[in-house]
Parts: sequence; structure tokens; C-alpha cells
Amino acid sequence: MDHPEPFEYLENNSFSFACHPGLPCFTECCRDLRLALTPYDVLRLKNRLGLTSNDFLDQYTVIKPGEHNGFPAVLLSMLENEHRTCPFVTPSGCRIYEDRPGACRIYPIGRASSRTQGQDKTREFHFVVKEGHCLGFNEPRQWTVENWSQDQGLRPYAFFNDRWTEIITHKGSLGNEEMIPNKMQMFFMASYNLDRFRQFVFESTFLQRFDVPEESIYKIKTDDEELLKLALQWLKFPLFGEKGIPLRQ
Ligand code: SF4
Ligand code: SF4
Repeated sequence: MDHPEPFEYLENNSFSFACHPGLPCFTECCRDLRLALTPYDVLRLKNRLGLTSNDFLDQYTVIKPGEHNGFPAVLLSMLENEHRTCPFVTPSGCRIYEDRPGACRIYPIGRASSRTQGQDKTREFHFVVKEGHCLGFNEPRQWTVENWSQDQGLRPYAFFNDRWTEIITHKGSLGNEEMIPNKMQMFFMASYNLDRFRQFVFESTFLQRFDVPEESIYKIKTDDEELLKLALQWLKFPLFGEKGIPLRQ
């Protein structure tokens, strides 16, 4: 399969790369980006900044309806300055480095994945994304995909992103036209506005209708990652009528 520039195959599953403040291009890539945030990115960022999901979405993002196969996308807002810099970049690097979005972590590799509906197995392949301005490729340090993934903390991102991709690429029908705005609101809440989803779980008839194990109910009161797992399991039901969580009798 051919890839247009700047994508390149990974030869022997390895590549040379390093990014550090000694490079003349340091932080130059953190500007004028069209950075779509995934639900797990939003979770990490809002917690890092000590904000509610609503406040994070209001202050740091732009919503683009219909961009992910008809589902709304959330883009990180760039600052309105000359270079349209990322709100988190500083002269010494990324100020939220430990919680930076998955797209910033994975560069300079790209990952494509596919999951068979209802199965836990994910197929994936990787390639190199060679941006012309990036001098990191001239550095001698060698990486394999596995040790890059480990070094950049990519595992939880892949876990959540794969489950979410399964939803936005789902082949099922969304049903009647008139139901779609309502379904998009549910999608938005469960994907990006976790605090609102928590309220929905505990303040509606959700727990009477869905058979969520006691142990999970306890965890999702405070654990956002458990809550996002539940949200992604649940979403297939309102969107496509698929019972991701068993219904109570
Ligand atoms: S352009 Fe490449 S090497 Fe330079 S700061 Fe960005 S990622 Fe690092
Ligand atoms: S989040 Fe951090 S790494 Fe990503 S573009 Fe912004 S400053 Fe750069």
C-alpha cells in the first residue's frame, strides 16, 4: 500500500529520533495545529488543569459538528497571536507535558488500528510521519515502536482511542433523522463531558435500567477512567441499539 509524503514505512520496525531543547526547531511544531482531542485527551487535560469538563471545553476547545463521520469533533483552540501557538507551549516546552494529547505523544509515528465489532482484539500498524521542519530525525537515538510507545505512555491512549474509534466508525444505522440531534448530544456528553455523564448516571434512571456491577458503581463515583470505560460501553446502545451493558430485567 502506498502512502503519500510525509508518511514512510518503518524499516525493521525502528526509527531514529530525539526531541530536545537543544534543537533549533524546539516547540516550533506547537503552533497553528488542527489538533482533534479524543475523549481520553479531554479527561487527562481537564484533570491536569483542575477544571470541570464543561469549563475545559468552554475555555480550551472549539466544537466542530459532524467532523468524525458525522459525529462532533473537539479541537484544541490555538491562541489568537501571530503564530497561533498552542495554549500550553512555553519557551521551555510543553507545560502540561505529562498529560499532553495522544497526537503530541505519538509523533513522529502514526498508528492505524481496527477492531472487529464486539471483540477485544485490535489489529494495528505503524508508519513514520516525517514533517520537513522536524530536525528530530537527524538525531542518532534509535527506537522501536514498542519502546517509543512505552516511553511516551501511549498504552492508555491506545486503549481508550480504539474503543472510541469503534463507535465513530460503526457501520450501524443511527435510525430516524429526527432522533439524530438527540443522539449527537448523548455522544457529546459520553465522549467529552464526563462530569455531565457522571451526573446523568447518578441522577437519572440509568442505574435502574442498566445492570452495572456494584463494584463499578462504586468506582465511577470518583474514577474518571472507569467512568469513560462505562460511557464508551453504553454509547452503542443509544446510538445503534447494541447492548454494550446488559439491561436489567
Ligand atoms: S519539530 Fe520535531 S524535533 Fe522539533 S520540537 Fe517539534 S517534534 Fe521536536
Ligand atoms: S499540548 Fe504540548 S506538546 Fe502538544 S502542541 Fe501543545 S505544547 Fe505542544
